[in-house]
Amino acid sequence: MRSQKNYDAIVVGGGLVGSAIAYGLSRQNLSVALLDEGDLAFRASRGNFGLVWVQSKGDGMPQYAQWTRRSADLWPEFAEELNGVLGLDIGYRKPGGLAFCMSDQEFEDKQTMLERMRQTVPGGYDFQMIGRNRLKEMLPEIGGKVVGASYCPHDGHVNPLYLLRALHKAIQGQVDYSPNTTINRIERHENIFTAETVEGPVRAPKLVLAAGLGNRELAPQVGLQVPVSPLRGQILITERLKHFLDMPTIYVRQVEEGGVMMGDSHEDVGFDTSTTVDISRSIAQRAISYFPKLADANLVRTWGALRVMTPDGHPIYDQSDSHPGAYVATCHSGVTLAAVHARDLATAIARDSLPDEVGKFTAERFNV
Ligand SMILES: Cc1cc2nc3c(=O)[nH]c(=O)nc-3n(C[C@H](O)[C@H](O)[C@H](O)COP(=O)(O)OP(=O)(O)OC[C@H]3O[C@@H](n4cnc5c(N)ncnc54)[C@H](O)[C@@H]3O)c2cc1C
Repeated sequence: MRSQKNYDAIVVGGGLVGSAIAYGLSRQNLSVALLDEGDLAFRASRGNFGLVWVQSKGDGMPQYAQWTRRSADLWPEFAEELNGVLGLDIGYRKPGGLAFCMSDQEFEDKQTMLERMRQTVPGGYDFQMIGRNRLKEMLPEIGGKVVGASYCPHDGHVNPLYLLRALHKAIQGQVDYSPNTTINRIERHENIFTAETVEGPVRAPKLVLAAGLGNRELAPQVGLQVPVSPLRGQILITERLKHFLDMPTIYVRQVEEGGVMMGDSHEDVGFDTSTTVDISRSIAQRAISYFPKLADANLVRTWGALRVMTPDGHPIYDQSDSHPGAYVATCHSGVTLAAVHARDLATAIARDSLPDEVGKFTAERFNV
């Protein structure tokens, strides 16, 4: 039986987005109930690639680029804090990141795009284009067909499973976490939201929907629209190899333990998390074109997971006009944005004042 049923805030969804927000709200001294569906749920948070990635994100939406950059700036301190909570290293490293170019045209196009971003992103945006010779000095194992790369010093990576575990550990004792709790109905009477659970109703004046793909069904109940849909990504990981890659690249990264992760596809296949040989093959071939030595490595695991995609790929943060106190948060970069969700977004929700830059992420942009 639940000991306390009235809270300052209810957060629905215990993935990376909901957990980071619940953690941030508890740091603002709010009492929080975190309600999460359970093991059968689709959980991008447990199947992602682990990049804390800035490079190229937000071309055409400078607010997204700035928000991503802000999160990357917050990450070192955020990781330090979570390392302390977990009592082990969550594996966050920020050596910068590389995106390889396979033709001169691709190299030029990337340079043009990043230059455009440098000029339009408020607060600055650093990158360098690296030609073949210099890349070969940096990465002696690089494949012969790679003509160069873009490098961004704001990029990094982390062990995403440790990140989620650390967030869940950090909220212990602060947040009432209920796994295996699917929320189907939310009501609001006299400024209080009620979420029905098998253990009885949970109430709070504030509600944050962070249920990933589940937000689509829940949001209309509080006057919000969240047009998210699944986009599958498959990932492969090799046996442990001697370290040869110190910095993450957009499709290949070597984890602390030595395994090489290769990612990731973008497949519109509905709610299907299975893996397929043809996609695994194309992911492996791309990785081998970057690093030919990977052709000799044994794969130990492949998996599929569903991205939580909005129509334009940018996050949705919204608050309800018809149901004041109800918020929604969803994105397809929940690892990258975990720091800014725990800090800026949670603080803004706690104070009921979303800053202007967050206001740009309302789903109303899709109604134009
Ligand atoms: C292949 C792949 C690679 C990726 N790589 C990266 C990367 O390198 N860097 C990066 O930043 N991001 C990456 N992402 C994206 C990142 O994983 C997601 O943005 C993030 O996990 C989304 O977190 P979330 O909490 O919104 O969603 P989820 O992880 O899907 O969690 C949603 C939670 O809501 C719960 N829920 C749903 N419906 C209900 C309901 N009705 N009642 C109660 N609970 C409910 C579920 O139980 C689930 O735990 C990747 C994603 C994929 C699929």
